[in-house]
Amino acid sequence: VNACALPRIGSLRSEGLRTPAASAPEKVTTDGPLAESIALALGDDGALAHGIDGFVARSAQQRMATAVAEAIDARETLLVEAGTGTGKTFAYLVPAVLSGLRVVISTGTKNLQDQLYHRDLPQVLAALGLPVRTALLKGRANYLCRSRLKQALAYASPDDAPRLIALRHFMEASDSGELSDYGGIPDGDPLLPRVTSTADNCLGTRCADYDQCFVAAARRRATTAEIVVVNHHLLFADFVLKQEGFGEILPGADVVVVDEAHQLPELASRVFGDRLSTRQLHEFARDATQAVHEAGDLPELIDACARLTQGVRLLEQQFLDCPGREPLARFRDRGGVDAVMESLLDTLDAVGAGLSPVQQRSEALAAVWERCTHLSATLRMFLSPMDPEAPVTAVDWVERLERGGSLQRTPVDVSVPYQQATSAHPGAWIYTSATLSIGGDFRHFSAQLGLESTRMLALESPFDYTRQARIYLPTALPDPNSRGYTEALIDHVMPLIDASGGGAFLLMTSHRAVQAAARHLRGDRRYTLFVQGEDDRARLVRRFAETDNGILVGAASFWEGVDVPGRALRLVLIDKLPFAAPDDPVFEARLNAIRISGGRPFPDYQLPQAIIGLRQGVGRLIRGEEDRGLLILGDPRLRSRGYGAQILRALPDMPVLEDFDAALSWSLKLAQELTV
Ligand code: SF4
Repeated sequence: VNACALPRIGSLRSEGLRTPAASAPEKVTTDGPLAESIALALGDDGALAHGIDGFVARSAQQRMATAVAEAIDARETLLVEAGTGTGKTFAYLVPAVLSGLRVVISTGTKNLQDQLYHRDLPQVLAALGLPVRTALLKGRANYLCRSRLKQALAYASPDDAPRLIALRHFMEASDSGELSDYGGIPDGDPLLPRVTSTADNCLGTRCADYDQCFVAAARRRATTAEIVVVNHHLLFADFVLKQEGFGEILPGADVVVVDEAHQLPELASRVFGDRLSTRQLHEFARDATQAVHEAGDLPELIDACARLTQGVRLLEQQFLDCPGREPLARFRDRGGVDAVMESLLDTLDAVGAGLSPVQQRSEALAAVWERCTHLSATLRMFLSPMDPEAPVTAVDWVERLERGGSLQRTPVDVSVPYQQATSAHPGAWIYTSATLSIGGDFRHFSAQLGLESTRMLALESPFDYTRQARIYLPTALPDPNSRGYTEALIDHVMPLIDASGGGAFLLMTSHRAVQAAARHLRGDRRYTLFVQGEDDRARLVRRFAETDNGILVGAASFWEGVDVPGRALRLVLIDKLPFAAPDDPVFEARLNAIRISGGRPFPDYQLPQAIIGLRQGVGRLIRGEEDRGLLILGDPRLRSRGYGAQILRALPDMPVLEDFDAALSWSLKLAQELTV
């Protein structure tokens, strides 16, 4: 036990943590003060049992907490898969708090971040009676930027002015500048980037508003807190890469806990890559135009900025023919794309050359000159061909977005940069999620991040899946890639949804399938239909949970982080196995790299990735000990392909029903038993 931990444990005892019950939890086997304190805190008669309503001591939770404590003591890396219902949040919070060390906790979603900071952490601190300084730190886009709001007000159109004035009132009254306190600016609102900052456009310490800056204040609070809750993006961008413009905000963390860690490899791919979007270029063109206008006497630069705006629009148009994601080379093969990109680069260089001699005249000119240099270097990189003889270490690709698109360079293997970045932060690293392994084998996850020699622990869910749920595998469905598959699947399962009276999640593998399912169900007035994209995600889930006859149709973002316990959700349908699209350029490059190194792409990468994704979706069904439900896995490949059995084995232990009639009986039985 580290020296820092002892005072905390001592104070914990002196503040009246109860003595352990006569039958102390059996599974806590580690000797030593921290482990002992965990047993005291998480046991049947412990501080949490006494201090938190509804807390139930669980042996799996205590095992996880003990393992976390050991990793903290030894400053080691630990991977913990904790099945649904284990209580993993308390299992890491208790040892983290009791250690007395400086801890950063990172979550994948805003939901979990808020829940952790506003609910779970205060509960644990109150139950343990410990006064620990905590801070919640969100990404820049969550805080109003005083400087950019003032700029936006100065150039407001009559349409925008009322909203910007309301935001100024909020700015003057708010302590935190957190836009969630303001409300009224939905994600994707074009106003948002005009009143928030990015690492690119923030003026940092050169900003006239720096002393009152909301982002800087939030970061200052974080640096003095003992427990800081962040999200994965911030953890990477700021802590690992120090790219957020305010230096390292989380210095000296002794412990990093990464919850929802299954999201990390995908996020690392983005963070360790390069990206240039038409939106970024547009924002730059607008900011540069404003800065040049303010300077007053630079007509040539005003012309160059106008040409830049025009050039970005032309690039935007090139994305109209892009099918979604495709290799950069294919995008550039289309007639005219190269000419547009090269002309845009020339214009950026002209703007940069014009700004260079005048950039010392104002902070605004200096900032846009720096941004121009960076954007021009990134665009030049995308225009320069990779050496065809060199080993492929990264893949260049493009993605069409709602408006315009982005150019991206993604490393094929992120394990090396990830290890380099994290090794600069020694200490305990705890990675946890409900889905990190395939049947206790963590290789798929750990290899992607280079976490080879670490402690690993897989804890099963305490739920009794054999009693609580059944799986139905429909037969006689068309090929899952054929037209009309979604409609055929819904027609087939509709009697089961009818028997259940709704209370159904339809989890789709594509947005196209979401639309097809929504169209197919739209006229059925017996059910309240909730469709992804028709409202904010959290509100859709909340409204579904309050409705007894709801059917919610969603794609990727509904497969995880959605918690609807109780009767409201009693049927989950998954349309297909979540295999990544084989023509995705990054995925293709990774499969090629596996082939070249002598591996087998399907069993080594594609299948484990699909299993982990599927387990996330399946995990929506049973969220509590009293939950019951039916899981329908629509993909006929589960029966027809050899790997189907392997996939089913990796799921919680739910009996597979024989046929449709058995599924109908189960649904009718549940409908009777789960009466409102
Ligand atoms: S320092 Fe950056 S975030 Fe803060 S007000 Fe200035 S530009 Fe905005």
